[in-house]
Amino acid sequence: MLDVQAIAHPPLAPLAAAGVIRREDYTPPDWQVPEIALDFALDAAATRVRATLQVVRSSAHDQPLVLDGGGQTPLSVIVDGVAINDWRLEGGALIVPLSGAAHVVETEVEIAPERNTQLMGLYASGGNLCTQCEAEGFRRITFFPDRPDVLSVYTVRLAADKARYPVLLANGDPIAAGDLPDGRHWAEWRDPFPKPSYLFALVAGDLVANRATFTTMSGRDVALGIWVRAADLPKTEHALAALQTSMAWDERVYGREYDLDVFNIVAVDDFNFGAMENKGLNIFNSRYILADADTATDYDFDAIAAVVAHEYFHNWSGNRITCRDWFQLSLKEGFTVFRDQGFSADQGSAAVKRIEDVRGLRAAQFPEDAGPLAHPIRPDEYQEISNFYTATIYNKGAEVIRMIATILGPERFRAGTDLYFDRFDGTAATCEDFVASMEAGSGVDLSQFRLWYAQAGTPRVTASLHHDTGSDRATLTVSQRTPPTPGQPSKQPMVLPLKLKLFGAQTAQTLAPEQLVLLDQPTEHIVFEGVGERPILSINRGFSAPVVIETDRSAADLAFLSAHDDDPFARYEAMQQLMLDTLVESAANGTADHQAVIAAIAGTLDNAALDPAFIAEAVLLPSDAFVGDQMARVDPEAIFRAREALRADVGQRLAGRWRAAYDAAQVDRFEYTPAAKGLRRLKTVALGYIAASGVDDAAGLAFAQFEGADNMTDRQGALATLVAGESPERVAALDIFYNRYGDNALVLDKWFQVQALSSRADTLATVEELARHRDFTLANPNRARALIGAFSANQRAFHAADGAGYRFVADQLIALDKLNPQTAAKMIPPLGRWRRFDEARAALMRQELERIVATPGLSKDMFEQASKSLA
Ligand code: ZN
Repeated sequence: MLDVQAIAHPPLAPLAAAGVIRREDYTPPDWQVPEIALDFALDAAATRVRATLQVVRSSAHDQPLVLDGGGQTPLSVIVDGVAINDWRLEGGALIVPLSGAAHVVETEVEIAPERNTQLMGLYASGGNLCTQCEAEGFRRITFFPDRPDVLSVYTVRLAADKARYPVLLANGDPIAAGDLPDGRHWAEWRDPFPKPSYLFALVAGDLVANRATFTTMSGRDVALGIWVRAADLPKTEHALAALQTSMAWDERVYGREYDLDVFNIVAVDDFNFGAMENKGLNIFNSRYILADADTATDYDFDAIAAVVAHEYFHNWSGNRITCRDWFQLSLKEGFTVFRDQGFSADQGSAAVKRIEDVRGLRAAQFPEDAGPLAHPIRPDEYQEISNFYTATIYNKGAEVIRMIATILGPERFRAGTDLYFDRFDGTAATCEDFVASMEAGSGVDLSQFRLWYAQAGTPRVTASLHHDTGSDRATLTVSQRTPPTPGQPSKQPMVLPLKLKLFGAQTAQTLAPEQLVLLDQPTEHIVFEGVGERPILSINRGFSAPVVIETDRSAADLAFLSAHDDDPFARYEAMQQLMLDTLVESAANGTADHQAVIAAIAGTLDNAALDPAFIAEAVLLPSDAFVGDQMARVDPEAIFRAREALRADVGQRLAGRWRAAYDAAQVDRFEYTPAAKGLRRLKTVALGYIAASGVDDAAGLAFAQFEGADNMTDRQGALATLVAGESPERVAALDIFYNRYGDNALVLDKWFQVQALSSRADTLATVEELARHRDFTLANPNRARALIGAFSANQRAFHAADGAGYRFVADQLIALDKLNPQTAAKMIPPLGRWRRFDEARAALMRQELERIVATPGLSKDMFEQASKSLA
């Protein structure tokens, strides 16, 4: 065995000390910039940016004006019309000495969009020019106080070659446009709403729009446009419809009306994340806009609607009210995720949406909260803010808002949000402002609840129900404990809203109706009177609190709940727990009794009253990674074997039912409706179990589905099933898929991803070959994530015992860091999970992290993620 401790540590201290930003150090800006005029002479190789800032001293101080920069040198600095030369550059920032209370400061810089591989600031994508400024990209365009509490009214003039860039867009409303000599043209935009620099955007390109009108609740017409390249126009209908539905939903549910005369969305192929809520000009990763039945799965369609809604909802929760500083990021992101989850729940099955959201939370956020990068939803410090666009800020942040909504109830929650929007409109606010509004609007005290903003880590709750037959009394003992996280060795008890219910073991009757209990002590007892038969506990119904629940419920009681609980989430959860217990035991002992799981799945499949979409979720085994999270030491090989054995057994023992479910789930013609989606989902889940059973015709069945499909959901589902196996159809299907979709970047991403996720033993070799494929490039974030990101989520291949998977990922991330540090740093966490593995794997993972940290010229982004992962 390798000794983990024996590995030499590189000297981290000098670098690590540099550049830590702390929340407690916040001070208001010395200078405000109420107005800015920007003048762009656009060109991919050399763009000139002239900025005219009206600056106003904020208080009686003698500080110079400090304008953040991103490596440029000013071509000129003019103060009140006079060129000055007593400016200086300090750490990239432009320092301008000023004597009065208000001045006009003008700077000019030249930047090179086509050489911008970081995709932050102004960059080129697919021949067009676009921007991404959140969090600190604006300083790479021009010198400016690039912080969210400096709000300005922007006037923007764009000039460019008319043939190459016929469309010129910026925030706000279009003011004027015209032609220039030499085939150039110009357009001017003005955004009347003061905004921070991170919401600035421009687009110049050869684009066409799918247009529509939305009439707001007060009767104003808004011109909507979804801008794409001409060939993609037919793929914009779904996004446009989702935008209109979102606008109406926010009026109805939150009373929020849109405020400009135009709302534009532009799709770009090269984008570091999902999308960006720039005022009146959202910019999207094209994967969250473009869809038709032939190229997008149901999952893609749903994600498009969710992201369109999310970015639109930011117009109020983010833009009209922005963040005082980046420590408050969850103020806009957690709340906006909560809002988009509510929107999606209203478009189809709320139960299935909740299951999907909890599955996502457990896959991404729970591991983060249990690892070296754990942080509260309102962090206390960071080195690189880009590293804090995390599942914790977004998804745990949304769970925290959900708990507030649960505690307050719908009317008081709405009173709280109304008050928040009213009080803080036009300002840069804090999480505290939000919570205080919720309290004032509802009359509910949230003092102790505020710990959710301060403490990291997932609370663990143990619940044990004792029934006293003599007194017909049941006593539930509940204890909570939040494990230590980096910098937070001990924790205080949290407020946990838990929805509970008791069922009778014999009669299946309700013994105690659903109630919401608010726990706020380390241990509490909840007494139920008049409990005449043995009760079965249904707890954390609807996943009312984002915690881990440990109970002493037997397999029989979980089976009961999986069949009888009337809360769909609790029913799903009982089944998951049954599966987890079985898989953990099997992984530890090499074998386990599968009977309870098989019976529960059979009962679920037989229940005609259940929605097929729910059935498909409920019968799916938990992921390898989630099983590993339940174990003291993750053993990826044992988990893989246990899961494959259970899948095969479920497939064989329920063979007739899977065939019947498969046949019953055929849909005549593609329809994007909740019912048709549910059937497609169940069909592919059934196909997976048929393949796992090992029957001879499974590959034939999958290939027939692949060939006969009239939609991407069925085609990709069949392809994934084939790719995991050994059949000759596997190679044929991959080739057909590649030849059919080779010129569609988004579908080609699926081709890379499905191979990177394959559970086959030779996946690493395949992925290494794919990394040399002519269609592979690290320059496109979607492609990099489709191969490298997917591979590092593949528990079997990534965790190969010899460390070859770790080495491959580290090599790729070191290469990617040179182009795009943000996207590279996002893929560090899988390597950071080394503490969860055996000593040999832990040593190999550490070795790769140390190699990354020691790389000359490493970005701040990667350094923070990798060095914290080693600590
Ligand atoms: Zn957001």
